[in-house]
Amino acid sequence: MPANLLTPQEFPPSYSTTFAPVVQNGASNSEKEMPASYEDSSGAGRGMTDDIFDETYREKTGPKPATVYVWRNIVLMALLHLATLYTFFTLPSAKFATLLWGFGCFLVSGLGVTAGAHRLWSHRSYKASFPLRVFLAIANSIAFQNDIYEWSRDHRVHHKYSETDADPHNASRGFFFSHVGWLLVRKHPDVIEKGKKLDLSDLKADKVVMFQRRYYKLSVVLLCFVFPTLVPWYFWGESFWKSFLVAAIFRYTIGLNATWLVNSAAHMYGCRPYNKHINPRENRFVVFGALGEGFHNYHHTYPFDYSTSEYGWRWNFTTSFIDLMCYLGLASDCKKVAKATVLARKIRTGDGSHKTG
Ligand SMILES: [Zn+2]
Ligand SMILES: [Zn+2]
Repeated sequence: MPANLLTPQEFPPSYSTTFAPVVQNGASNSEKEMPASYEDSSGAGRGMTDDIFDETYREKTGPKPATVYVWRNIVLMALLHLATLYTFFTLPSAKFATLLWGFGCFLVSGLGVTAGAHRLWSHRSYKASFPLRVFLAIANSIAFQNDIYEWSRDHRVHHKYSETDADPHNASRGFFFSHVGWLLVRKHPDVIEKGKKLDLSDLKADKVVMFQRRYYKLSVVLLCFVFPTLVPWYFWGESFWKSFLVAAIFRYTIGLNATWLVNSAAHMYGCRPYNKHINPRENRFVVFGALGEGFHNYHHTYPFDYSTSEYGWRWNFTTSFIDLMCYLGLASDCKKVAKATVLARKIRTGDGSHKTG
């Protein structure tokens, strides 16, 4: 494995098994809090820590602001999903090469989100060379899930203020809101306020990120819709309409929903072997659909681990991709939490599910 293992540190001498560390933001801790020096809380050496859960944050009390619907997004999202439903019935008549091409576009666009916007740019869990960053930015535009800068800002705020009003897709507002509803309404003022206070200097300093942001709309039109449509039409004579429906519309919608399931299902259904005091869970279905991103209890416990899981390649296409990039010399400095540290954490705050597998 090319990953650099973080050195496991011993528990501080003051460590005691009596503390019940984190509940959720907004809830009170009834017992002693974690020592600040606790070994697995930040993932040093990344140049940022604004994705670490803020245990001290307390949600504002008082009346909640009114929900403001964004009708343009509601209409577009409804049309997209209706077109996807229609495409289900045209899939059997599409050429096999077109289906394969659509699946390839799904995998590449998925990597633009998982290996790119998520593990590289949101969490800095590994380092990527310039050519790899360019590839990931292109793949990210194929995925069309907001530009890398905005995606990473929203994602850091999600981790830091998880399950509160400052979390863009606050799962305590229900499945639909955390899945897609959050994109159909104006952001809660707390999300905007906290997002502005994050340290995003590393993103601003990355020319690839800022270039993609500047030309984002054009890149999405060309890479998410035009390019995936033209290839089957030009190279193997698929009808233009069918190419568009399968490789652009259908593939795009599946990619969106796979990502959204991480925010919805993986915050609600599954076990919590690492930290039973937080909502995110290990969800095997989401792991499969989101290219390895469903080990969500682990990920919220250790957001800086490049594998977003205790394991390596198991159900984790993204981790195998990053390892391949390391092997080719295009990525380096992968952050990984030591096995002993993870085991200690399971025993200390897990729900006991690790014993039964
Ligand atoms: Zn999450
Ligand atoms: Zn994350």
